[in-house]
Parts: sequence; C-alpha cells; structure tokens
Amino acid sequence: MDRQSALRLDPEEFRAIGHALVEDLAALFESLESPSELAVVSGERASQVQAALGERPLPEHGAAPAELMAEARNLLLEHATHIGHPRFLGYVCGSQAAIGALAELLAAGVNQNVGGYPLGPMAAEIERQTVRWIAELLGYPADAGGLFVSGGNMANFIGFVAARRAKAAGDVRADGPGGERFTAYCSAETHTWVQKAADLFGLGTSSLRWIETDGEQRLRVDALRDAIAEDRAAGARPFLVVGTAGSVSTGAVDPLGELAALCAEEGLWFHVDGAYGGFAACLPEASDDLKALALADSVAVDPHKWLYAPVEAGCALVRDEQALLDAFSYRPPYYHLPDGISYFEYGPQNSRSFKALKVWLALQQAGRSGYEAMIREDCRLARLLYDLAEADPELEARTHALSITTFRYAPAGAAEEEVDRINEELVDRLQAGGEAFLSNAIVDGRYCLRLCIVNFRTTEADMRALPEIVKRVGAEIAAETSLGAAR
Ligand SMILES: *Cc1c(COP(=O)(O)O)cnc(C)c1O
Repeated sequence: MDRQSALRLDPEEFRAIGHALVEDLAALFESLESPSELAVVSGERASQVQAALGERPLPEHGAAPAELMAEARNLLLEHATHIGHPRFLGYVCGSQAAIGALAELLAAGVNQNVGGYPLGPMAAEIERQTVRWIAELLGYPADAGGLFVSGGNMANFIGFVAARRAKAAGDVRADGPGGERFTAYCSAETHTWVQKAADLFGLGTSSLRWIETDGEQRLRVDALRDAIAEDRAAGARPFLVVGTAGSVSTGAVDPLGELAALCAEEGLWFHVDGAYGGFAACLPEASDDLKALALADSVAVDPHKWLYAPVEAGCALVRDEQALLDAFSYRPPYYHLPDGISYFEYGPQNSRSFKALKVWLALQQAGRSGYEAMIREDCRLARLLYDLAEADPELEARTHALSITTFRYAPAGAAEEEVDRINEELVDRLQAGGEAFLSNAIVDGRYCLRLCIVNFRTTEADMRALPEIVKRVGAEIAAETSLGAAR
C-alpha cells in the first residue's frame, strides 16, 4: 500500500487490539452474571468524572491506537453505569445481550448504510425480515410496513407523522396544517415524546388533549369520547388517538381494544406506544387489552428495552406500508434506485446504521420461546417484589403491572409528606450507592420507589435482597430527619 494514511490500522495490530477488547468485554459479561464485586454505578459526582477524563485540547498529532483503546476501555469500565447489572432496575433500560455487542462490531466493521438499497442490500433485507419477525412476535400483521429507528421517541414520531399525513384534509406535507386545528388525544400518563412530536411536527403542544385516567392509570374511554365530540363541535380536526401499552410510570395498559373500536367509529388514526410494554404481548397469558395492540394503525416498540438489545434500537410498525411512503418519501434525481427497499423513503433519516442486526441475531439466539420465558420471568420477579413489600410492615406496596412495581419505605408514625421526602432521598442514595439502582414514580400524588425489570440477568435472590437494602438506607435517612429526632 503506497498511501500512508493517518487512520490506517495495521491488520496485525487490529487483531491484537480486537482480541484484547473481546477479552475485556468477556470479563465484563462474566461479572454481570455473578456481580458480587461489581457496583451498579461508580457513584461519582460529575466533577469527579470530568476530573478523571481531564481537560484535553484537540490533539494536533496522532497517537498509537492500542494505547488509545486501552485508555478508552479503562475510562468507560471504571466510570460506567452498568445497565446490564442484575440490580439495575431503574427507568426502562434493557440489560444488554452479549450477542448485541458482537453484532454492533460486525455492523460497524462492514459499514453498511441502510438508507439506500445499493449501499447495503443484505442489511436492508435483514432489516425487513427483522421488522416482520417483530410484527409476528407482537401478533401484528406480518405484512405491515416498518423500520428501525433510534428508540421509542423516534418510533412514536413515525406513527404521529404518518397519522398527520393520512388524516389531513389538505396537502399537509406541502402546506403545513394551515387552518386545520389538528387535535390528538392521549392519557395524562403518556410519555413526553407526544409533546415533542406535537411541537416538532408543527401542530403545537396545545393540539394535545390530555384525557384523564381511571384508578389504575388507564385512559378513560368515556372521557375520550366526550372530548372528541366537544372538539368536533368546536370545529377542530381530531386525527389521532394514542394508547399506551405499558405506561412509563406504572406499566398501565390502556383499554386498547376499546380505543381501536372508537377510532374505527370516528375515523381516527390509532397509534399504540408500546415502547416499554409492547413486547409483553408475545406472552400467551397477556391481557386482551394488551393483545389488542394488533388492531392499531401504528405501533412503536423498543428493542433496546424488552428485547435486551444494546442502545440504540427502536422499531416503528405501520399497518399499511404505503402510509409510510405517503408520509416520508421524496425521490430526488441524484439517487439511482434500481430495486430493493430503500429505507430513506420510509422515515426521516437518510443515512442509517444497521440497528436491525443485533435484534435479528438475538431473536434467533433466544427464539420466540426464549423471549417468552425471559419476559415472563421479569414480570414474575416484579410481582414477587410487590408481594414482599406488601408483607413487610415497613414497606408499602403501591402498584404492580407487567414488570413494574412501585412501593415506598414507610416507617411507622411518619406523616405522608415525610414519607415522600424520605423516599425522594432514598432514590438519590440508591442511585449513587451502587448496591441497587431504582428510580421513582408519582402515584396518586405520592412519591414512590419504582422498579422496572427489563433484565434477563435479575434473579429471585436480587428481589429478596432488595427490601433489606431499602429499609437500611431508609432508616438512615429517617434517623437524620425530624422523625429520627422525635424518637
Ligand atoms: C422509553 C419510553 C419511550 C421513549 O423511548 P426511548 O427509547 O427512550 O426514546 C416512550 N414511551 C414509553 C412508554 C417508554 O417507556
């Protein structure tokens, strides 16, 4: 090779660095399986992390790749939040399957651009097959259109934009909403993506109608029906109903079957946000409400949550593939497209990474039955924690749905506000402590601890250990507050 480029990596050196990296990651995956030594988080403040990295100017000259990789690996491993840790139980973050890490290396190494078919033909075919498998897993029509995106927000945006285009009276892509007062409906528990969508796609957040929920945080269909009638009478254009399959706070599943029927009656687009809970529809014992996501015009799911793919991987499904082309396709003269599916026509991105590969591989490694067993066990463990909390006089079990449980540390004699404050501090200390990572939810106005298991590494022993951890840290906090002083 006569050209000596600054980025050339000698193949022998690539091998050596790559083998060392695989050894390090193998050790990480090993310790995620029996993590007695491994803290969930390092528990450092931002200033400590910044100090560990150091202020560095842009380097003027190059450096040796082996040393750079060793340093990057040390920085990351020593200052990571281990989302794959069996006791990472906060937010909705999937524990990463090891095969996903290998898939990312393969995808980056071969560097296929799944925007245009000619830039990655097999990658495009694998993405198409993976989308079909996901539809099958959910019980959604297997001939649906769909594509991979970065996550749940983007997958929900796809449904929103497809709905806006499909239900507009005029040419909304050319003219914008104009005088039409587009109105979308969702429950008060809906994730913030819906505000971003209304804002970004030009309708404004006042185009959203937040519908109240029942005692189980589920959208009230009677209230929705009234709101639609009221808005129509006032000259608005209702176009979209968003149902949630597993709310982000408590895992509540809206009455999706009833919502589908109402949308059919009213001529509205029915979109389901299944970013967290959608994949639980694969369980034969899933509720009829959840299985009714199969009736939606579009569904968003998040393989980087309950399919345990490393971030990023979201997936949008749209019943009528043509609706995606109608909403997103432009055919510029500078693209030569002989045949095959070119995903830039089906969504907002142009160049696209090969996110489907890690999901395609994981779906085959585990199979449908493997995923059913993992998702079922996640739900069972969350239920177990609910039961343990319910049986414990110092804990208060609040909600359980799918694999989310909310509960509180509630020492005897503490007023509600005091319990709120203690649990808020508890979340802080647990998130910094490294023993077990929980997050929070506000349930009926009260501050709760929240555990969400999308983690095939979590075991029953982890659940049985959790009440003691929570009570120990909670008692420390209580002792420091007025409650402790009064005793
Ligand atoms: C996680 C989540 C989202 C957002 O998904 P990202 O992958 O974080 O973009 C949207 N809706 C629900 C219900 C979620 O749980």
